[in-house]
Amino acid sequence: MSACHSAEPDIRLAAQVFEALRQRTADGPGITRDSYGPGEQAAHDLLAEQGKALGLEVTKDFVGNTYVTLPGRRRAAPMILIGSHLDSVRQGGNFDGAAGVVAGLSVLAGLRDAGLPLSRDVGVVGLRAEEGCWLPETWLGSRMALGLLSPDKLDDLRHVDSGKSLADCLLESGFDPQAVRVGERALDRAKVACFLEPHIEQGPVLAAEGFAIGIVEAIMGGPRFRDAGILGSYAHAGGAPRAYRHDAVAALGDFIARVNAYWRELEAAGHETVFTFGIVATDAELHSFSRVPGEVRFCLDARGCHDAVMQGVRETLAAHADALAQEHGVRFDFGADSGPAILPMDPDIRETFARLAQSRGIAAKSMPSGAGHDAGAFIEAGIPTAMLFIRNDRGSHNPDEAMDLEDFHKACQVLTDFVVGYPEAH
Ligand SMILES: [Zn+2]
Repeated sequence: MSACHSAEPDIRLAAQVFEALRQRTADGPGITRDSYGPGEQAAHDLLAEQGKALGLEVTKDFVGNTYVTLPGRRRAAPMILIGSHLDSVRQGGNFDGAAGVVAGLSVLAGLRDAGLPLSRDVGVVGLRAEEGCWLPETWLGSRMALGLLSPDKLDDLRHVDSGKSLADCLLESGFDPQAVRVGERALDRAKVACFLEPHIEQGPVLAAEGFAIGIVEAIMGGPRFRDAGILGSYAHAGGAPRAYRHDAVAALGDFIARVNAYWRELEAAGHETVFTFGIVATDAELHSFSRVPGEVRFCLDARGCHDAVMQGVRETLAAHADALAQEHGVRFDFGADSGPAILPMDPDIRETFARLAQSRGIAAKSMPSGAGHDAGAFIEAGIPTAMLFIRNDRGSHNPDEAMDLEDFHKACQVLTDFVVGYPEAH
């Protein structure tokens, strides 16, 4: 069944814009769009050019996010905003971030061509400085526009190459750090009815399971222990029988095994979670082939998308640690929990996306996002937000990102149907 209106996203335009983006920001095997640098600027210039060529309104906010707007009848009503970030990692792929902006542009071009009466403005935003690899914090463009960035970050965050502060990066690019300092907002609930962020999937799930697109449930959150450790005591490997040992590594081995078994139980119960012991290390100054290790450091990153499940995770981790501390005669010290909160997508929009995909015959999977995105900042600002993932089984942040334009087209169709069907009263 097809949609009951004539608007179709302009995929030919999207293909041209992807190609122009690739050419203008090419760097070795990939592309580089450095935040508040020439690469990111080239992408914003291209978005502005394309917006003007389509006869749409083109504006910028005080931190340089670029907006292309198709005006609706009620200009004062909060707009539907589609977009993502235009920066990339060094020698990254052409689609991470950019796909969401180009999707918005092809939706807008299709709506304009169809000449459908829109009750409110529909905008596309290209956001700045999302990646966190040029300035050491993520989602900066969206957080500054939403008034969520603490002003001291303007001076504290330094560009990794130039050492310049975020404030100087803004000033030199022609933007206004003072607006950030006084807490101005370019975007808020009164201006934005909802934020929709299409993004390539950064894992293998959609390709493996045969879905073109994913409807994101939430950006995962949960406990993160960056500096945890187990303290026992050092002893001679030959001289200390098992019952007399306080072996930190043996305790950690048991702990990791228990966490993995628990993870399988959670999965079997239908709870999507991930657990990663990314660093495990004994002390190079003290460890030795024939010494029982008296200390081991580790980090643990646990993520899920339901608060109740993650509360259970916290309790279970603590219970296993207590039991193993007893058993091995060691002490667990988890250190600070720097884990982010779970950021849930808007349930109504998710439901609408699912219904629209189904009526177009598009295979869509409900799934969590393990990684953070600008959408998270919009959720923090209280704006109804949703994300669509587009199949891509080659990961992201590398030149091999693969996204089939057919899958991209399907995501754009769902977005088009969403905009056309958006209730006037909202
Ligand atoms: Zn991204």
